[in-house]
Amino acid sequence: MKKRRIAVLGSTGSIGMNTLRVITRHPGHFEVAALAACNSVRVLERQIRAYRPKYVAIAREHIAPLEKKFPAIRFFDAAGGLEALVAQKDIDVVVIAMTGAGALAPFLAAARAGKIIAPANKEALVMAGDILMGAVRRHGARVIPVDSEQSAIFQCLDGRPAEDLYKVHLTASGGALLDVPLSRHDRLSVRDVLAHPRWKMGAKITVDSATLMNKGFEVIEAQRLFGLVPRMIDVVIHPEAIIHSMVEFRDGSILAQLSVTDMRLPIQYALGYPARLPAPAGRLDFVRLGKLTFARPDVRAFPLLALAFEVSRAGGVLPAVLNAADEVAVSAFLQGRIKFTGIHRIVAATVSAHRGLPSCRKPDLKDIEQADAWARAKATEILERIR
Ligand code: MG
Repeated sequence: MKKRRIAVLGSTGSIGMNTLRVITRHPGHFEVAALAACNSVRVLERQIRAYRPKYVAIAREHIAPLEKKFPAIRFFDAAGGLEALVAQKDIDVVVIAMTGAGALAPFLAAARAGKIIAPANKEALVMAGDILMGAVRRHGARVIPVDSEQSAIFQCLDGRPAEDLYKVHLTASGGALLDVPLSRHDRLSVRDVLAHPRWKMGAKITVDSATLMNKGFEVIEAQRLFGLVPRMIDVVIHPEAIIHSMVEFRDGSILAQLSVTDMRLPIQYALGYPARLPAPAGRLDFVRLGKLTFARPDVRAFPLLALAFEVSRAGGVLPAVLNAADEVAVSAFLQGRIKFTGIHRIVAATVSAHRGLPSCRKPDLKDIEQADAWARAKATEILERIR
């Protein structure tokens, strides 16, 4: 395998740091070509010293002092400069580990530049999956997902044609609130919600796991990545988080991808695809596990999952509206401004307010950006009202 030169967008976050761990472990296969962060300048500086990248992106105000310290590096503004960064000729793989809608532009630029794209970010694919995947196909780029469920589906499908496929069983660990009765959801603190039993992740995605919104986003993401329709996706609660998802073929055979619960695995797979490099984390012991369990998701307790299916059937700009409203609501919850149940109230009210507006089936990027801005304003207005 030729050594791959990797750009890590969001290098100071949880996925970004795990990506750097994987790269460190395989110096013969991977090297860091670019690092991008928003504001964590101290951590980024440590990473620059350790990996000596050719390119770095950071918020504009931090560039001048860093340029003095590292004159050999070419710096980009993290707001607006990522598109130029990912298109550099000496970058092979673009890991999109940053959260939020800001990933949309660099994702599209990486697709247009024909790169291998390893997205951990969900927002871009939820908002504009059809546009992004269209650009990927047109420009000969490749997407090897990092999200554990999408990686599992990718590995099980293994390039088989869509007509062989019957269904995808998307597994969900159930988040921190799996066993918390609905009657208590009103009184949950930020700390209760952030205590995820299986995965250690950033705050936004941990809250999204607790509401099952994260699974809802994955339903939409899987459709865009693999060309599925909503009825081909089943969500099943699997608290052990050992099976990362399953693909059922039309003959009734099901392939599952299993592993220990560690993000370094799907990251390493995406960086090295199709090579399988030595295990980055522990190995499964079935006898110690004893059993794997499954349950149907409780959509009454977690109505955002059902809403995501509705939104994905409606299509158009509605997934972008869902995403934006959720971002506003979760951030208000994390700041202690609303109750946990307020997240659903805000998101549902924003989506339903948009339903009254005229909408197009095949939105372009501008339509999506407009819907995103509209939803943020609407969700903020609803938030002020319910507080
Ligand atoms: Mg996931």
